[in-house]
Amino acid sequence: MLIRNATIRGEEKLVDILVDEGRIAWVHSSDPEFIESSEFGEVYDAEGRYVAPQLVESHIHLDYANTAGVPRDNASGTLFEAIEIWRERKEQGLNSPEEIKSKAVAAARSAVSHGVGFIRTHVDVTDPELVALGALLEVKKEIAPWCEIQIVAFPQNGMYAYPDGSTLVEKALQEGADVVGAIPHLEPTREDGVRSVKHAFDLAEKYGVRVDIHCDEIDDEQSRFVEVMAAETSARTMFGLANVSHAVAMSYYTSGFMARLLPKMNAAELNFSICPNENLHLQGRGLSYPVPRGVAPVKQLVDFGLNVAFCQDSISDPWYPMGNGDLVRIVDTGLHVGHMLTPAYFDRCLDFVTTNPAKTLGIDDYGLGVGKRANLVVFDAGSEREILQQSAPVLLSVHDGKKVFERPSAQASWSI
Ligand SMILES: [Zn+2]
Repeated sequence: MLIRNATIRGEEKLVDILVDEGRIAWVHSSDPEFIESSEFGEVYDAEGRYVAPQLVESHIHLDYANTAGVPRDNASGTLFEAIEIWRERKEQGLNSPEEIKSKAVAAARSAVSHGVGFIRTHVDVTDPELVALGALLEVKKEIAPWCEIQIVAFPQNGMYAYPDGSTLVEKALQEGADVVGAIPHLEPTREDGVRSVKHAFDLAEKYGVRVDIHCDEIDDEQSRFVEVMAAETSARTMFGLANVSHAVAMSYYTSGFMARLLPKMNAAELNFSICPNENLHLQGRGLSYPVPRGVAPVKQLVDFGLNVAFCQDSISDPWYPMGNGDLVRIVDTGLHVGHMLTPAYFDRCLDFVTTNPAKTLGIDDYGLGVGKRANLVVFDAGSEREILQQSAPVLLSVHDGKKVFERPSAQASWSI
């Protein structure tokens, strides 16, 4: 396949991109004469549009997707009512493997239709039968031709707050989960929370996997498990292998504590998955006005050199009733809430949903360079700024050299 007349970052002129046997075979300046005299199979003319690597969703819950309203709506809109509803759902046996599978595939398809090619999904393993894990392992296999999935063994109701929670996390790793998770701020005590973080790192070392922890997703400036994550990562020389999801409490930390914390997080090369839409919805409830933002200080993290990704988190579940997997929409919110609507950030805004999360997930051969895996999308816009401003749709998506979908540009025909 040949993609002609593409705008890509770092090239002033339009380029042609040849895809061969699942890889990018070459990228060079568009040359009509050379192209016309050669044979390339399918040719797609991007007509100057922006081509980027396929997007990476580094934090979502596919096993929860498309369940909002059943058994009941989240009336308070809080995270704690959502967890309660999810517990009821499990107790009422509403999560059959078939149900989870079909809803998860629909959610993945929605994200992929917006240009995603890689997903890290957390899967609730606080269930003695590990039903959701079994379903998601099947989904992973089934959709591998068009989307690559990583599964985090995630103890939604806690490693120690839930009976045998820590054992279930380990069992999930033995059964095929790719990454170890935890949720320290929901454990019975702060000490249990610290123990859960350490146990997650123990399991990571034992099974040779990465760590991704729902860390400090609470409106409590005393929730400081991110500091424990930094310390554990450095002590075990697991630099770059741990991901901090949410880090909501960080938006409440004092400048004095942040000044001490930032170098520790940097030394550990911690990654961050920040979910601005979802945490704007969930956080700050029950507090007096003005309401805090409840989103980690992304600008501070980025400016300090930390790796930050923006993520969807939920597609229509008890935590968040909206969401369709459109990561450009998430970047839009993230840059707004982070006070980052300046060229330094919006002209490279796709970093937050491409190269940054790709690093977090450890995706091999990611990007648009020659020899890389051919995972790319064509946006209906000419620049990253325009993609953001226009919420530009993806017109073509290619995964490992195969076309996933193509859609026409929806330009209006003006009558006046
Ligand atoms: Zn989450």
